Amino acid sequence: MVQKIIIGVLAAALIAVCSIWGYSTWQKQQAAAPAPVAAPAAAAVVEPAKPVDAALPAETAPVAAEAAATEKADGTHFTYKYVSPRSPQLLSIYNMASEIDVLRNLPEVNQLDGWLTLPRPINFITAECGTINAFYARDKGDVVLCYEMLDMLVRQGAAIAQANGGSTRDQLKYLMANLRFLMLHETGHALVDMLDLPQTGREEDAVDQLATTLMLSFVSADESEGDIAQNLQLASNFFLLTDSGNHDMATYADEHSVGAQRFFNLQCMIYGHDPGKYLRIVTSGRLPEARALRCEDESKQITRNWMRLIEPNIAPKHRMTREEEQAKIDQIKQKQVENAPAPYVR
Ligand SMILES: [Zn+2]
Repeated sequence: MVQKIIIGVLAAALIAVCSIWGYSTWQKQQAAAPAPVAAPAAAAVVEPAKPVDAALPAETAPVAAEAAATEKADGTHFTYKYVSPRSPQLLSIYNMASEIDVLRNLPEVNQLDGWLTLPRPINFITAECGTINAFYARDKGDVVLCYEMLDMLVRQGAAIAQANGGSTRDQLKYLMANLRFLMLHETGHALVDMLDLPQTGREEDAVDQLATTLMLSFVSADESEGDIAQNLQLASNFFLLTDSGNHDMATYADEHSVGAQRFFNLQCMIYGHDPGKYLRIVTSGRLPEARALRCEDESKQITRNWMRLIEPNIAPKHRMTREEEQAKIDQIKQKQVENAPAPYVR
C-alpha cells in the first residue's frame, strides 16, 4: 500500500526540469580557452578519432568542416535499464522503479547525460544484488542501484516521515534526495575511471565531494537553493542513520570514511558554499564552529578542483561563454520566482 502511494506521488512529482549547471567560476577559463577538437560520437569509441580532414576524401572535407562549425558535437549519452529481480519480494520495488522510470528522473545525472565526452557510455541499471548496495562496475561501465538499497531507502523514508508526523511527500523527498546523492557518488567513480581523473586523496571522499558539488551547482526552475540544501541535508542524514557508532578495526580500515565523518564533510561543503546563507548549519549545531572556520576555503577549493578536472571533458555543443551561462541562469531564476507560491496566499 505504501509503495502504491509512493508510485502515485512520485509519478506526479518527477517532472523533467529545465536546468543547467551554474559553474560561472570556471566558465571564465572556458571562454578564454581554445575550442576543443570535435568529440567522437559514442558509437565510434571502438575506433580512435581522426581529424576530419584525414578521415574524409579531399573534395568532401570543406563541406564537413563547414558542418562541424555550425553543428557542435554532442556528448556521450547514458543508457538506462531495469533488470527483473529473481526474488518475488523485490518485485514491488522493481515495479515502482520501472513504472516511474526512476533512473531518468535523477536531475543531476540526467543533466550529465550527453554533457560530457566519455570514452564509452555509462549504463545506469537497477538490479537485484543480494545485498544492500549501489556500485560502479568498472569492467562494464555500469552504475548499479540494487533493489535492496532502494527498498531500504523507501523504508527509512517511511519510518522518518512517520516518526516526525510527516507526509508521504516527506518520505518521497527523503528517497529522491538520497538517490540523487548516491547515484552521483557512483557516477563520480565512473568518471574517475573513464576519464582517468587524478586523485591523491581517498577516492570515496573525493566522489562524495563531487556529488555535493554537482548538487550545489544545479540550477533548476522547479527547485530553489533552499530545496537543494535541504536535499543535501536529507542525504547527509543517511550517513548518521547508518553509523552505529560502534567502530571496530575493520571500520577504520575501510576505504570509506565512517558515516559521521561523511556527514560532517557534507555539512562543511554546504555551509562553505555560502556561509551567510547557510549560517544556520553552524548555529543549529549540525557543524561545530571549530570545523566551520575553514569550510569556506575548503568548499571552494574542492569545487574549483573538481571543475578543473571535468571542464576539459564538456562536449563542444554544451560549452557556453560566461555571458551565455549567466543569461540562462537568470532565465531559470526568473522561472523560479514565477513558480514560487503566491506571496499573499495563507
Ligand atoms: Zn563509493
